[in-house]
This record gives sequence, structure tokens and C-alpha cells, in this order.
Amino acid sequence: MKKTDTIAAAERSYIIEKEKFVPVSQYFGEDTFNHKVMKDKLPKNIYKKLMDAINEDMPLDADTANVVAHAMKEWALEKGATHFAHWFQPMTGITAEKHDAFADPIAPGEVIERFSGKQLVQGEPDASSFPSGGIRATFEARGYTAWDMSSPAFIKRNGISTTLCIPTAFISYTGQALDKKTPLLRSIRALSKSAVAMLKLLGVKNVKKVMSNLGPEQEYFLIDMDYFYKRQDLVLGGRTVVGAAPAKGQELEDQYFGSIKERISSFMHDVEEELFKLGIPAKTRHNEVAPSQYEIAPVYEEANLAIDHNQLVMETLRSVAKKHKLAALLHEKPFAKINGSGKHVNWSMADNNDNNLLNPGTTPQDNIQFLVFLIATVRAVYKHADILRASVASYGNDHRLGANEAPPAIISVFLGEQLTQILDNIEKGTVTKATNAEIIDLGVSSLYQVSKDNTDRNRTSPFAFTGNKFEFRAVGSSQSIATQVIALNTIVAESIDELAEKIKAKTRNAKNINQAVFDVLRSEIKSVRPILFNGDNYTREWEAEAKRRGLPNEKTTPTALRALVTDKALDLFEKYEVLSRVELKSRQLIHVERYIKDLEIEAKCLNNICMTQIIPAAVSYQEKLAKAIHAAKEAIGSGAVVSSQTELLKKILDLIHTIYVTNKDILARVEAAEAVHDEQKKAETLAARVKPKMDELRESVDALENLVDDERWPLPKFWEMLFIC
Ligand code: ADP
Ligand code: MG
Repeated sequence: MKKTDTIAAAERSYIIEKEKFVPVSQYFGEDTFNHKVMKDKLPKNIYKKLMDAINEDMPLDADTANVVAHAMKEWALEKGATHFAHWFQPMTGITAEKHDAFADPIAPGEVIERFSGKQLVQGEPDASSFPSGGIRATFEARGYTAWDMSSPAFIKRNGISTTLCIPTAFISYTGQALDKKTPLLRSIRALSKSAVAMLKLLGVKNVKKVMSNLGPEQEYFLIDMDYFYKRQDLVLGGRTVVGAAPAKGQELEDQYFGSIKERISSFMHDVEEELFKLGIPAKTRHNEVAPSQYEIAPVYEEANLAIDHNQLVMETLRSVAKKHKLAALLHEKPFAKINGSGKHVNWSMADNNDNNLLNPGTTPQDNIQFLVFLIATVRAVYKHADILRASVASYGNDHRLGANEAPPAIISVFLGEQLTQILDNIEKGTVTKATNAEIIDLGVSSLYQVSKDNTDRNRTSPFAFTGNKFEFRAVGSSQSIATQVIALNTIVAESIDELAEKIKAKTRNAKNINQAVFDVLRSEIKSVRPILFNGDNYTREWEAEAKRRGLPNEKTTPTALRALVTDKALDLFEKYEVLSRVELKSRQLIHVERYIKDLEIEAKCLNNICMTQIIPAAVSYQEKLAKAIHAAKEAIGSGAVVSSQTELLKKILDLIHTIYVTNKDILARVEAAEAVHDEQKKAETLAARVKPKMDELRESVDALENLVDDERWPLPKFWEMLFIC
């Protein structure tokens, strides 16, 4: 397919005229009902009550809610809003909103704008069509949304419509979580409780709360919208199900951090402007490794806010792309044989005085604290590597993990040379009685030198310590990061508690608390060894080594998801009151069902593309070739050399045959899988029997693409999509 006139037109139209540029500091957060606005608009006593409710988990009384709602409505009307919406994150992985007009009839032909405290605090969307994993029978389909005061309400502009969006949690009539925010908030609370108790045990005073902080680095592709709409696989599933690799991919390494094209820069500028208005601190932007691949990262924020913001980043990338006649692809693997997209989730814990608990300190006491939280995290990852693997499992992410692209499906932790050396020293136990001075002698004081530069080199690790945070790199680009953070917060809370118990037990005999901590750390370091790996995670040797170490290596989503319904997982999430057994089981089922749906959509799409686009194009070329061979023979007689054309014709005929037969086989296998009643088994059957066949079919189609007349090929090719934009 040739570069069309419409694309040339799009290229000309990308420069969007700006009237004038305003410094970001003058409009940052202007579309959010943030603390500054609250302070401005609310009476002093109401503002104080609201802050207490936000910061101290105090209940909000009805009168206060009414005053806040009124102020919020007045503010929203000034911004041009006509509607309000409870904005929530159901188990679809994206966000949902139901709009209600502020305008309310008061007499025939007369309305006023109204918004009550009750409407602010609670909503009741008809929620029967959201995935619930069997929690809600349709006869009790009511779902409730509850205002999350810790994430500011914001204005959403969509074309000429303007809506006040209120971040909410989404729960069932019986109080069960139907969304990602509810368990997230519970996991944040659980981690805080365990970490505060540990700090107290270590003698730290004045800490009331510990937060998890997140900085998600979001990768994405941009292609011209015109190409996007010419491919049903991209429109329906976000990924190309066929398409041959271009002659040039990423081998010249000329894309990563390269200068950003003008059309892309303009796009990024517009995205950032939207994000700044929403109070999202977008910080870095750059070209990624693959052609047409990019990354955006904000400055880290408190987990709940960062997760809301990441949803808004993904939504903004998509919507602004449209304005620029581009399509933003957030899929984990839009193009086979080209690097896929991930989301590096940078995670740390900080107390309410803004001390990062994963920051190596300048004093021995700080260092002990650092080592405790570091080892607790490593220990949690070791104990629950299967849960972390399950938390990143999705049909899309299978193309990265466990396929021929890193990070692998094996979860391991990278600590870097320096830190490993320090742990080695501690484990060797050169010193048995630890006083503060001796901790310094052990080289622990040099922890302060553990800088990002020293630790960030290994890009193949799925879970790497990078100076003062862990970077979870196995996350897929399109995923809601709530899922992984819920898991991470909960498993770390448990390990902190278990370490605390061990320390307390030792303290009874030890000289001092430091000695006890030290003894516990030494034995813990020994036991977590198998999860530590500083080498290249992409190699076959590592796969074999990991197997020897007993680390899980589940390559497909259905088998990985089994980890969520083990007694170990069910007990853990129940104990920390993050997800009840019923809730967790229902979530696992939702993920399994989603896998089935995603795979089946792709299989049907592949079938349709093969039957209605690929085979007709190939047959038409086949006919042309056959006619040409005939004509040549007729014109020249037996002296005509047609052997090469006959060979080509035969290859094409063979491929058409193979494509037809494989496609038929896939449909039969899907049908056979459909008959399996157990969803888990159905998903596993599809993964084992259908997915490999789809890959096989793709190989044939891609071979055909390289033989058939370019004029007749019905789909935009990789070289066009990835290099013309
Ligand atoms: P990289 O070298 O991996 O691209 P960056 O320096 O771009 O890393 O930072 C990645 C992300 O990590 C950013 O969003 C940044 O704000 C975030 N980050 C930095 N410090 C912390 C922290 N203490 N906790 C959580 N995230 C953090
Ligand atoms: Mg990174």
C-alpha cells in the first residue's frame, strides 16, 4: 500500500497553531480541585474538617460534604462544566464514568444547577455490565461509587463538552470491591501499618504514616491514524496479527534518545499541556528503542494519585494523538519482531516526614533501617514471586514475558555489585557482635555511596534496585498499575511483619536491638539468595539456573494466574484485609476470562483478515502470474523461459493453501476450546493449542507478504507504519 495523499495532508496539518505560550507554573493544576483551590473556596472550619478527613481518615459529616459539594460545583461551572461524573476503575483495567447534568428541573420549564453532598460522596451507577467474576448476581446488580477524597476532582474536556470528574472507589451492595482502587487503598493502609510498627521497633519516633510512592515510565508507539484505520487488527485488538518485519528495524540503534521528529514533538507538547492542567507532573520524554516508540514519565507521587494519573496519561496519549491524526498504541507488542512496550513502575516507601525508607542513610542507624526495608522487600519478592508474576499477566504481556523478549517471566531481583558486596559481608558474619561502630567497619556506611549510576546498569532485570527505589520492569504498557502495586504493598507488608516478629524474638537474648536486627538480617540474606541475580536475564543459561534455584517460570497468562488462587495467596490477601477470598477468586476469574476474550478476538480477527484480505489479494496476483505465464508461452512458444515465474506461482499457491488450512484448523481448535466448561482449563487450552497455531499462520502470511505485488497487498506494512509518521 502506498503512502496515501491523506497522510501527506495529515503531515501538513500537524502544526497546531498556538496563540501564545504560557509558563507551566501559571496553569499547572488549573483543572483540578486541589488543596490550594479548596483552601481558597472553602470556609476555614470546613477546609480543616476536610483535611482531617483526608489525612487522618476521619469521617466526613453530611453538612461538611454539602458545603464542599457546593464549592466544587461553583468552581466547575466557572470552568464550563455542565455535568459531573463519578470516575472509577472497574476490572476492565481502564476507567469508567457516568455523567449526570448539574441542571435539575425545579418547575416546569425551569432548572437550576444543583450538586449535593450526597451526590458528591456516593453514586449508584447501574453496574451490571462490569466484570465482577461472579460476585454480583444480576438481581443485585447495584454497584456503589464512593468519593476518594485523597485524589483531587478534575475537569475533563472532550470536544466541546466539559465534565467534573470525581475519583471514586466502586463496591457492591454488600461492600465487596468491584474495582482496582478499593484494594489499592486497603493495601496502602496495610503497608503503612506494618512499616510504622517496624519503625517504632527500630526506635524511630514521630512517624504516623508510611506511603508507597510510584513513578511509572509509560512506553507507547505512535503511527499515522490513516494506517491505523486500515488495519482491523489494530482497531480491534491494538496489535498487528500479521505483518512482515521491515528490512530495517531497530538494529541501527538510531532511534533511542534520538532527536524527536517535529510532528512527534508537537504531539508531546500538547499531551504535556493537558497533563499539566490536570496537575500531573510530566517530567521526561524521549524516543525509545524501537522505531516510532516513545516514553513519558512523570515525577513520582503517592501511589493512589500516581495510579489515577497513569490512567489519565494513557487516556490523554490516546485522545491527543487523534487531534494530531496519529494513533497512540499502548499495546505490549503491537509489532512482532520489534521491541514491545512496558511500563517501568518505580516503587518506594516514605514516611510522613518525607524520608524514603529505601534510601541508604548517612548514619549507621539509618543504614540499619534501610537494610531492614530492603531485605523485607527482597524477601517478599522471593516468597511471592509467583504472585508478582501473576500481577503482570495478560494476553498482551505474554508477547513480552516468556516470549523471546525480556524481561523474562522469571522474577528475580537485581541489587548491583556494591550492595551485593555489602550483603555478602553481612552474611559472612565477620563480626558477630554488632555495635554501631562495627556496622561502620563492615562497610555499611558506604551504603550512602550506592548511587543510581552504580545500580541502574542492568536493564534486563524484571525487579531492580535503582539507588533508592525498586523498578518493576515486567509490567505491561497498557496495564493498570494498581494490580501490581496492590500485590507489592501486601507482600512487603507481610515480610515487614515477619521480620519484626523475628527481631522481637531475638531481642530477648541480644545485647541490643541492633544486634538482634543484624542477626536476623544475616540469616534472611542467606535464605533470599536464590532470588538475587545480577547477570543477564535474557540468556538461556539464566533460565536453566533459575530452574535449579526453584524459581517459578510461567510463560503464559493462564498458568501464571493460578498463583492467585493458592492457599498461600488467599491467606495472605485475606490476612491483610486487602482482598477477601471471594474477592480474590473473582478477580482471578476475571483475568482468566479476559485472556480468553482477548485471544478469541485476535483469532477471529486473524481469520477475517486472512479470508477477506490476504487470500483475495494473493489469488488476484496468482491469477495475474498464471495469465502472464500463459501469455509468454503463447507469444514466444516453447522457447519462453517461464520457470522462475512458475516457481513463484507455485510458492504462492502453496502459501495460500497453507494459510487456508491453518486458518481452518485454528477455528476448529477455538471451537473445541469453547466446549471446555472450566474457564481456567479453557484458557490453558487456548494458550497451548491455539496461540502457537496463530503464530504459525502469521509466518505463512508474512512469507506471502514478501512475494505478492505491493500494489495488491491490502494492509499497511511495517515499514510504512513505523517509518512514515
Ligand atoms: P530511568 O533511568 O529508569 O529512565 P528515571 O530517572 O527517568 O529512570 O526515573 C524513573 C521514574 O522513577 C520517575 O518517574 C521518577 O520520578 C521515579 N522515581 C524517582 N525516585 C523515586 C522514588 N523514591 N520512589 C518512586 N519513584 C521514584
Ligand atoms: Mg526505567
